[in-house]
Amino acid sequence: MQPASFGGVVLPWSSLCSLRAGLGVARVVEPADPAALLAVIASCPQPPRVLGRGTNIVGSDDDGLVALRLPARGDFAAITPLGDGRFEVGAGLSLTRLLAILAKEGFGGGAALSGIPGTLGGALAMNAGALGQEIAANVLAMLGFDCRTGRKWLWAEGAGGWGYRTSPVPPEVVVTRATLHFARVEAEEELARISAERVRRQKVTPAGFSAGSVFRNPAPELPAGRLLEQAGCKGMREGVFAVSAEHANWIVNGSGDPGAAADCRRLADRMAAAVGRNAGVTLHGEWRWMA
Ligand SMILES: Cc1cc2nc3c(=O)[nH]c(=O)nc-3n(C[C@H](O)[C@H](O)[C@H](O)COP(=O)(O)OP(=O)(O)OC[C@H]3O[C@@H](n4cnc5c(N)ncnc54)[C@H](O)[C@@H]3O)c2cc1C
Repeated sequence: MQPASFGGVVLPWSSLCSLRAGLGVARVVEPADPAALLAVIASCPQPPRVLGRGTNIVGSDDDGLVALRLPARGDFAAITPLGDGRFEVGAGLSLTRLLAILAKEGFGGGAALSGIPGTLGGALAMNAGALGQEIAANVLAMLGFDCRTGRKWLWAEGAGGWGYRTSPVPPEVVVTRATLHFARVEAEEELARISAERVRRQKVTPAGFSAGSVFRNPAPELPAGRLLEQAGCKGMREGVFAVSAEHANWIVNGSGDPGAAADCRRLADRMAAAVGRNAGVTLHGEWRWMA
């Protein structure tokens, strides 16, 4: 890839996503503040792809994309208390870190979300959730920029757009900060709930490099994992990727070697097709594919 006027570093997609998927390279830019971010958008020949920590994406097998990532420090990771349990938070901050910091200050109620890897920005874009809780319940406002035009994008409470793993954040928008609210809690108790959640996750998370659940649950009482298991998907394999023997809705890269996004796509398609044949149910993916 040619050097770009807006800088950045060229990195393999496999190093940018937790699944180690994608054989191409991307130019990764990490603007330090909103002014630098707008300069990137203005000089980038194509709208950059927004990236968090890559825990819910599959990279690309092609070269040439520009990935915009908010750094987990400075302006984009700041926490500003606004009073009454409200905080303005930079979208580059890790969600786990945010909830741990707030718990120490006696604010919480979101321990169920505390083990979800990735950034606040990623959680907002995916409406990340666990154990019946979703980040949407904590969001009062979001501010970002349209990566095509540089125009400001705003969302305020009441504007709606949230659903199960869907959010009002359009794919072309980078959220830079959000106003969240949290309940007053007893710090020690909240920290204990966060520790318990960490232990629970260690027990249920399949071994290997992964990107979370592959498919959304068709209904709360119809988990995708059960449908995939009944359709005989456990052990299916494409390249370095396999359906986990521990959880049929989980693709793992056991070796951590870079794998082709095309292999990953083929495996996910085979899984969905198997469920379609076996149960007549159409599964919808959770992951975001970069190409
Ligand atoms: C081991 C493991 C466990 C997981 N458990 C859960 C779980 O329990 N519940 C759950 O919901 N998810 C889970 N996930 C999936 C994933 O962690 C979440 O979706 C997470 O919120 C993604 O954050 P990220 O920063 O990694 O985003 P990325 O994966 O980098 O990006 C995901 C999407 O968010 C967009 N995005 C990222 N940052 C921004 C931003 N600043 N502005 C606008 N858009 C942005 C990207 O464009 C992309 O479309 C798990 C993943 C793993 C690997």
